[in-house]
Amino acid sequence: MYQQIVVLTGAGISAESGLRTFRDQDGLWEEHHIEDVATPEGYERDVELVERFYNSRWQQLHSGTVEPNAAHLALARLEAEFTGQLLIITQNVDDLHERAGSRRLLHMHGELSKGRCPRSRQTFILRDPFGPKNCCTCCIPAQRLRPHIVWFGEMPLGMDRIHDALDHCDLFIAIGTSGTVYPAAGFVDAANHHGAQTVEVNMIPPDRHCQFQYHLTGKAGELVPQLVNTILAGRVISSEPNL
Ligand SMILES: [Zn+2]
Repeated sequence: MYQQIVVLTGAGISAESGLRTFRDQDGLWEEHHIEDVATPEGYERDVELVERFYNSRWQQLHSGTVEPNAAHLALARLEAEFTGQLLIITQNVDDLHERAGSRRLLHMHGELSKGRCPRSRQTFILRDPFGPKNCCTCCIPAQRLRPHIVWFGEMPLGMDRIHDALDHCDLFIAIGTSGTVYPAAGFVDAANHHGAQTVEVNMIPPDRHCQFQYHLTGKAGELVPQLVNTILAGRVISSEPNL
């Protein structure tokens, strides 16, 4: 039925695995002020504080207590079994999609498990915590790696590829994201404009400004596996209880 699917995932899908992100609503991320730990100005002001913060987030991710949930696993199954094209765009900086098995994945807000050379922008998988000795191998002198995180005031990653995928998709699904913050808020408009079916899965019921054609209110861990079953069975998504 569908040929090209774009899925956008946000904080809600990670929250069901017990992870908070900097797009949470209260202006705090794990009890830190956003402006201290998620802006270029905060990094310039106190490099060590920002490094400690991301080292701690990185350790939390690899502490063995955080696992992909049923929604992550269902999206990985969709990628494995769907015969058309699928792109997952995530606003999340954790690696739960990868751990579930997803490979066609774009992290528009960066990744906790990578550091980036501030000069060349080359990224490196983190093997050691951030610190004065964790440097790039691309420059002389070597540059201290910074978190590969898109902070407030910085451009999201992969926008050309995202818009190309949205221009050709026939189904756009947003999961666990309010969808009201640009640029992500523009994705549903782009998908609608190109005639795609647009579906929102969220804990919060839609408001009157919502641009999605279909809404499914509830936990991603329960609704996404049902959605994936519907797609893989070749059926059209609807707002009926059986999707
Ligand atoms: Zn470098």
